[in-house]
Amino acid sequence: MNLTLHLTENCNMDCSYCIREKCPRDMTEEVLFKACDLAFSKGSRAGLCFFGGEPLLKKDLIYKALDYCEERSRLTGMRFDSKMTTNGSLLDEEFLRKAKESGMVIGLSFDGKAQDCCRRFADRDRSPTFDRVEEKAKLLLEYMPDSVALATIAPDAVPYYFESVKYLHDLGFRRVSAVIAYGRKVSWTDDDLELLRPQIEMTAEYIKDLFIAGEKFSFSPLDSKISECIAGRNPAEKCHLGVRQMPVTPGGELYPCTSFINDEDYLMGNVFDGLDDNKVREIAMRAQVPETCKDCDLRTRCTNS
Ligand code: SF4
Ligand code: SF4
Repeated sequence: MNLTLHLTENCNMDCSYCIREKCPRDMTEEVLFKACDLAFSKGSRAGLCFFGGEPLLKKDLIYKALDYCEERSRLTGMRFDSKMTTNGSLLDEEFLRKAKESGMVIGLSFDGKAQDCCRRFADRDRSPTFDRVEEKAKLLLEYMPDSVALATIAPDAVPYYFESVKYLHDLGFRRVSAVIAYGRKVSWTDDDLELLRPQIEMTAEYIKDLFIAGEKFSFSPLDSKISECIAGRNPAEKCHLGVRQMPVTPGGELYPCTSFINDEDYLMGNVFDGLDDNKVREIAMRAQVPETCKDCDLRTRCTNS
């Protein structure tokens, strides 16, 4: 089973589009080990994603979870994988050595040239983060050259979209993912979208040239959408409520997706009592294509939600 562990709701950054609840909850060791047990309770493999807030504020918990799960993997013969999404500011060589040894995959939240538009430290001056994260990105790539850069594109970042993808590629990332920011703190206008179109076109030309030159560079969403179209599947990122990856809150509650954390209507259980199977089935039904989409011409290119 794959679980996303929200080790803390604290963060040393204060990004303008962040949707996390700002309250000082950290995961306890008791919840952590119960969540690890749950990950090993079903299927042939166990996967943990360390998440926050900023997960590196709780490095101690990450070390404990890795040791515990590696031991369980040895005892049960089940495969264990780990990954982490981090803002990178607290990465250090000791952590990277351990992460590399355990085969962890790290996603670095880094908006490239747009970094300082939205991603600021949570100090009184909301200091810029670009210089620190650039230095840490270089360190990360020394240890794990296959790491992925995760750029969030908010309206303020649109003018930097192409420049940022190119910068991240020049820095050494071979995998970049650009995700459009959404949520209650972000609002897009038609003018923003008009500006976004040429930025995506420039990026596509750049990636096409790299592809023709035979250089390996994976850029999501373009790659994934093209490959899904070739395979005849819906290229829209579909919702898999509670099926692929389930978040665990610091208090141990289980939800189908990070977007629904703290929404009682989506609570599916907790690490102590396990999952409520009826609730899991009922919530999975909500991710099916609704009747209202059945006759829509866009249904095979849309998330239908
Ligand atoms: S680094 Fe992540 S968790 Fe921290 S404020 Fe920014 S978006 Fe939120
Ligand atoms: S645009 Fe998408 S969500 Fe809207 S009716 Fe069509 S398929 Fe459904």
